Amino acid sequence: MIGSNNAEAFATARARMVAEQLRARGIDDDRVLAAFSRVPRHEFVPAEHRDDAYSDYPLPIGEGQTISQPYIVAAMTQNLRLQPRDLVLEIGTGSGFQTAVLAELAAHVYSIERFEALAAPARGVLGRLGYRNITVFTGDGSAGLPELAPFDAVIVSAAAPRVNPAWFEQLVEGGRIIVPVGTPQAQELHLVQKVNGKASTTRLDPCRFVPLVGAEGFPGAG
Ligand code: SAH
Repeated sequence: MIGSNNAEAFATARARMVAEQLRARGIDDDRVLAAFSRVPRHEFVPAEHRDDAYSDYPLPIGEGQTISQPYIVAAMTQNLRLQPRDLVLEIGTGSGFQTAVLAELAAHVYSIERFEALAAPARGVLGRLGYRNITVFTGDGSAGLPELAPFDAVIVSAAAPRVNPAWFEQLVEGGRIIVPVGTPQAQELHLVQKVNGKASTTRLDPCRFVPLVGAEGFPGAG
């Protein structure tokens, strides 16, 4: 068991996670790997699951939601190919872990979470860790954030029935969306790029996320 003050043990577990779960499975973007080496994932996990923070699976974070498996967070991040000047919209803050990884790589992350009971602790830990380039909003993010558009990248951290045209409208030319698309039970990651104003879609890994709810989410889910 890892004692709650044992920073060294967490650092060792984090380095193993990067090597065994990410690098060994094809995450090869050095900036993404460096971000995962820096962000203390255990700070984003409820105390009772902290020993498992660097394990190869999702964990409960309250409100029936989960912090995603490290590999899937890395795969989504790598596919966004973020640049230091990029503005990012994240739909589904959850624990705030993915938010921190994005903030390591981009200029600013706007993140929306529908549960204040998750948004508030996420704001707390992100502030404590010193992130000044993150804004967490509470509300329904299923239609994006038109007031602050356009974004260079949109990441949806919950399962969606389709790629919402509103997200695409909120992208700059050359912008990217990554989103798990499918049914509430099973999805695959879709990468959508805006090329000459048109959507170019690539289908990536199969995955399983909690459902996106709200106006543009799954009816009756959540
Ligand atoms: N990347 C996060 C994943 C959290 S799970 C992490 O690793 O911690 C997905 C989150 O999306 C949940 O917290 C859920 O409450 C949120 N969510 C679902 N539908 C939403 C909506 N319409 N607007 C905002 N957040 C939503």
